Amino acid sequence: MSRIPVTILGATGVVGQRFVQRLAQHPQFRIQHLAASERSSGKTYAEACAWRIEGEPYGGLGSQVLVPGAPDTAFSPVVFSALDSGPAAELEPRFAQAGALVFSNASAFRMEADVPLLVPEVNPEHLGLLTLQRERRGWAGGILCNPNCTATVLVMALAPLQAAFGIEAVLMTSMQAVSGAGYPGVPSLDILGNVVPFIRSEEEKVEEETPKLLGAFQGGGIQPASLAISALCHRVPVVEGHTEAVSVKLRGNPSVEQVREALAAWKPLPQRLGLPTAPEVPIRLHTAEDRPQVRRDVEQDGGMSVHVGRIRPCPLLGIKFSLLGHNTHRGAAGGSLLNAELAVAMGVLSAGVRS
Ligand code: NAP
Repeated sequence: MSRIPVTILGATGVVGQRFVQRLAQHPQFRIQHLAASERSSGKTYAEACAWRIEGEPYGGLGSQVLVPGAPDTAFSPVVFSALDSGPAAELEPRFAQAGALVFSNASAFRMEADVPLLVPEVNPEHLGLLTLQRERRGWAGGILCNPNCTATVLVMALAPLQAAFGIEAVLMTSMQAVSGAGYPGVPSLDILGNVVPFIRSEEEKVEEETPKLLGAFQGGGIQPASLAISALCHRVPVVEGHTEAVSVKLRGNPSVEQVREALAAWKPLPQRLGLPTAPEVPIRLHTAEDRPQVRRDVEQDGGMSVHVGRIRPCPLLGIKFSLLGHNTHRGAAGGSLLNAELAVAMGVLSAGVRS
């Protein structure tokens, strides 16, 4: 099968680099255009971008010239957007109108009623919203978003519990990596030896995106899950990997063992389909009393699985556990890539493809 050409918008950033890294050897997609801001376009990728992640620098594309991020210079049938929210709001609809399927990491369109907010293990049926979006907006392509990284990791653990028992309430306290703020992110003098109990808009994003993600696709729209949720978000001196302390109130008050069984038995659609970026085991369950840990666990499975440990009774809500996931793999580029693989598998890509 010939590989589908793709564009990366925001290729020079933290998430853009992860896209380049993950797409270098991808069986279904090949990088056609790399785009960034006006500051960078016209320069080679190596000139414009300081490569800051492991692996082959620039994914072997250091001499490729960056193009302006507009449809007339950077069109491909599939566009991966690692743009900040401001430029995403302006540029992503232009690509969708031109016929591209845009897989966005930005928050600009996540909560729009006709935009799928997707985690393929959690809510693949929400892809159906794309038909409504195309009808409403008259687009040949479309925009599909992945959630905020903290919400992504959280719903990976909540989805099997929602399916097995139903969820009434969630209390989540995060300890989030500095790479979540992009590059250069939080100044070293603010974060070394410190914990910052504020990440702008993060708690609001987790609290509004989680019910949409766990909601039901019915009557052409998403009926948000009816659950109470409170998020408390903190920045910590960790490079990659968000840790979350989760307490959850489940219907029927299941035991710790029943919760463990529900998480272990979960085999969602991407794993059944064998999508290339799907981890074989979506939730790694830990039994050691001091796991999961960022340094020891977060890179497992290419950063695409999430880790659950210390499942135990919670005097407040019934069950509590520790959760860990990779913010720039599962929470960003890897999640977006998995969305595109789902779109290919479900046949929605062909309607938007223009060569
Ligand atoms: P970043 O490191 O700051 O990179 C931003 C990228 O956007 C750069 O390539 C930049 O290009 C480009 N850009 C900025 N202004 C532009 C404009 N006006 N036109 C075209 N391109 C422009 O940010 P990031 O951490 O990679 O995040 C990218 C997106 O993913 C954000 O929306 C973020 O919220 C989301 N996200 C990030 C994470 C994470 O863990 N980092 C997780 C989930 C979602 P130049 O180099 O030319 O300035």
